[in-house]
Amino acid sequence: MGYITLSYMLEEISPVHMGLKKPEITHNNQIVDGKGYNTYLINVENHSGTHVDAPGHFTEDGKIISDYHPDELVFNKPLIVDIPKGSNELIKIWNISKLDFNDADCILFRTGFEKFHSDDSEKYLTQNPGISPEVVYFIRKNLKNVRCIGIDCVSISSYQNPGLGEEAHSNAFVKSKDFGKPLLLIEDMKLRNVKNEDLESIIIVPWQIKGIDSAPCTVLAKVK
Ligand SMILES: [Zn+2]
Repeated sequence: MGYITLSYMLEEISPVHMGLKKPEITHNNQIVDGKGYNTYLINVENHSGTHVDAPGHFTEDGKIISDYHPDELVFNKPLIVDIPKGSNELIKIWNISKLDFNDADCILFRTGFEKFHSDDSEKYLTQNPGISPEVVYFIRKNLKNVRCIGIDCVSISSYQNPGLGEEAHSNAFVKSKDFGKPLLLIEDMKLRNVKNEDLESIIIVPWQIKGIDSAPCTVLAKVK
């Protein structure tokens, strides 16, 4: 029993969404330069690396990540769902409609596309699979215990299908009396080395920065 991370360490070479500035992590004060201490300057967009999207990312009155209570970031019934997908493919209703989600509170979609994260980051960023809007709608409507979705791709939006990606995000975040609570979305997850049967719980630890919609995060998994 112990903890593992399902998130990547952020580096200057981390693949980040094509529309974002690349992370800059620069050594500022340096002991080797005669300073008494080391410090770094960190300049990153808040959707860089493994990060958690909150409703404020897409909706004006949506809850922002810094307003979440820690209790809302702990998931005791996580479920990994293996749905292998190749370039530009979407997870569709027929992929999930027959699955047994039990009472999962967090669904992690493992497409296998993370194999390109380090080896072919251009492909990882421009040909990523995504989640279709209908799948998110289905989850909001039928699986009301679910509070979070994660994926091992740079975004739940397929880069080549931006319109459908926006719709999928909106379906995750919109408030409706027919739906469960708006979802959190964890993007750019590292899911390769975890087995479903070992997974006990998940904790999202976003950067603690007041007022931002979404944040880079560490995802801790408690495993058997
Ligand atoms: Zn994002």
